[in-house]
Formats: sequence, structure tokens, C-alpha cells
Amino acid sequence: MWRKVRIAILLLILGIAAYSNWYDRLSTTDWDETLYIGVLPIDDSGNEVTRGYIERLDAEKVRDIERFLNSEARRHGVTIDRPVRVELYPEVMEKPPERASDSGMLGNMWWSLKMRFYARRAVQSTGRPAPQIRIFVRYHDPTFTRTVPHSVGMQKGLVGVVHAFADRSMTGTNNVVIAHEILHTLGATDKYDPETLAPLFPIGYAEPEREPLYPQLLTELMAGRHAIDSRTFEVPSSFDDVLIGAATAIEIRWPSP
Ligand SMILES: [Zn+2]
Repeated sequence: MWRKVRIAILLLILGIAAYSNWYDRLSTTDWDETLYIGVLPIDDSGNEVTRGYIERLDAEKVRDIERFLNSEARRHGVTIDRPVRVELYPEVMEKPPERASDSGMLGNMWWSLKMRFYARRAVQSTGRPAPQIRIFVRYHDPTFTRTVPHSVGMQKGLVGVVHAFADRSMTGTNNVVIAHEILHTLGATDKYDPETLAPLFPIGYAEPEREPLYPQLLTELMAGRHAIDSRTFEVPSSFDDVLIGAATAIEIRWPSP
């Protein structure tokens, strides 16, 4: 009896999650009204550098993400006035739940459930209206943290966690990473080889028809890097050198002229 009840509850939870994933997918990629995106900073290192950086975070700089996404949306045939709205939220004190690297499928499902509850609680703690997509940005002090964990963006739950450096010279790159994870929450896939980090040809190339092919000057957002030659890849330092390619536009259901 108890076993049946437990299975029924589990199926109910999975059913609700499946329905809400389906609904989220449709409602975030129909591009007929403005999509609200919140960027929520977290002080990961907890020292003067990260504290100072977060205190001086500029809402205007965060709006660069909105300007980039909206101008690319227009180029790909989205006609509404403001396809996305990206807002800087107040700092969040609680850190997101960590995912164990060897947790397996059940562990991942459990983590993603915890992540949903965390995201809801964290937004509530800011006292601001809930955005549809929540991107948590964990700022690290570059003096102590040379490499940061992988950032993630999940379509299931519409939530992302970005690891960023609390350094003014990195603000442009941080913004590009935030935009990359936002697009993951909308269903875009990576367009680079995870082993070598090489952009995939042709879908990960901003200008696959360029002659000569190298050097590529622009980065496709979901490739994350552009190819200087067949073995050298560079991360962009601002949106000036980034675009969203045709394959990514199709994945996030932009009409594409
Ligand atoms: Zn990615």
C-alpha cells in the first residue's frame, strides 16, 4: 500500500514537471511578448574584491546583454519591440545547490528539483517580481580562483548558474557567458567540441563562408570561441565580436528571414 502511494506521488511530481517543462518551452520561445530575464549576483569568494565588484555592478552594463539579444532577434526576423528584457537584481546571499559530478540520473533529477526550489526562494529573497528566466552569477576573485567551474543553463527549470570573475576587464566576457547560458535555457545547444573547445564547422562559425576561412573575426555565441586558425581559438571580450548563427536561431525558434 505505502509503496503504491509513494510511486503515485513520484509519478505525479514527474507529470507536473513534464507539463511545466513543456509549457515553459512554448511560452519562452513564441516571441510574441517580452521575455523577462533576471541576473542575480552572488558573492562567491566573500572578500573585499568580490564585495566591491558586486557593489559597483552597473545595471547599464547588464543591459548590454539585452541590447545584444534584441538586435540579434531583429536580425533573425523577430518583429516585437522588445523581445527580451534583462534586469540586474539585488545580490542573493544563499549559494545554489552543488551538483555531485558522479550523481547519476536520479541524483541529477534530485539536484534539478532542488535547483528549482532554490531559484524560487532566492528571487523571493530579493523582494522583486519574479522573472521568467533566472541567471545566478557567482563572482570569484581572480587572484585566488584561476579557473572556475563550468557555467550551466537549463531549459528545464529556466535557470542558469554562471561562474564569473570579479574583474572590471572581464565584464564584457562575463556578459557573453551570461548570454550563452540564457540561450541554453531557451533550448540552444553548444556548438563546440567539448574535448578541444574548437568551434564546430560550419554551425559554430560566425562566418562559415568567409574566404579565406581563417582567421574568423567573429564568434558564434553558442560556440563560445572563434577560430584564428584550425588550432587556435579565442574567447570574445565583448558583444562587438559576437553573433548568433542560423543553427542557434532555429533552435530557439526565431523566425529567421
Ligand atoms: Zn554551453
